[in-house]
Amino acid sequence: MTGWDQSAGAGTPEHVVPGRVRIHTEPLAPLQPARATNGLQPRIARETVFEIRDMSVYYGDNQALGWTSFDIYRNLVTAVIGPSGCGKSTFIRSLNRMNDSIPSFRIKGEILYHGHDVYGAAVNRVEVRRRIGMVFQKPNPFPKSIYHNVAWAPRNLGMRDGLDDRVEHALAQAALWDEVKDRLRDSALSLSGGQQQRLCIARAIAIEPDVLLLDEPASALDPVSTASIEELMHTLKTRYTIVIVTHNMQQAARVADQVAFFSLDGIERVGTLIEYGDTNTIFRSPHDNRTRDYVTGQFG
Ligand code: ADP
Repeated sequence: MTGWDQSAGAGTPEHVVPGRVRIHTEPLAPLQPARATNGLQPRIARETVFEIRDMSVYYGDNQALGWTSFDIYRNLVTAVIGPSGCGKSTFIRSLNRMNDSIPSFRIKGEILYHGHDVYGAAVNRVEVRRRIGMVFQKPNPFPKSIYHNVAWAPRNLGMRDGLDDRVEHALAQAALWDEVKDRLRDSALSLSGGQQQRLCIARAIAIEPDVLLLDEPASALDPVSTASIEELMHTLKTRYTIVIVTHNMQQAARVADQVAFFSLDGIERVGTLIEYGDTNTIFRSPHDNRTRDYVTGQFG
């Protein structure tokens, strides 16, 4: 397929700042200590994976998300937070065209992935989902063996060479190999919830995507499994760009490098990006009072 060359960098990020949105144009490096992004830090060159430009989403006549513009950077974890109904799922599912199956779904504006329009007329949706994988809230393994869950997508895409190694590698990256290596032929449904979710992550990464979208991946899990998923994100981001929706602010603070805070704005209560920036700024010194109220637990 043309136009989906992963190596094509997007160049210098361009920051479009619509009226109501705070976009910090000086994001911190992941390991930098907490400091406000007040324009005093040196600019850090980062590769942009997604450029979201004036994106609005409608379901029929109802606008779910409005006028959203920001950039998502490579090898970082970007968390999307906000109160229920503000469009977090709508947003993340739009990044890999997962909403296309909803008849009333309409999108305006642009989502550029490495500079290419995700919704361009010539774009192959299968290829979009190969490069931009997704893991859902509820673990949803196929009712097949552990092995076949991970081998299924590579096999369907004709990636049959070295399949056993590929399966092992994906399970190892998902921190599950040691727990399942002696029972690969067992049903995936015999695994615990946390193991099933790591299996779904292994399934997603078995076809070597570029981006992992995680929609509330730990909200159905116990605290121990949640901790293992969070730990996994720290290792996976060295290889993948991760976007996670979470309603759990502590989780966002623990795992994310960048945070996008959405809320319901205006009389129409449209999901709106209120503030976007590095995690320390959003949680310690947000620029917008609505962000401050949300992260301090005063609403939502
Ligand atoms: P969040 O993930 O922040 O809870 P959602 O993206 O699920 O928010 O929902 C945003 C808005 O879009 C809500 O008003 C919701 O009712 C609406 N919505 C979500 N999915 C659909 C759909 N399939 N059909 C119609 N409206 C939808």
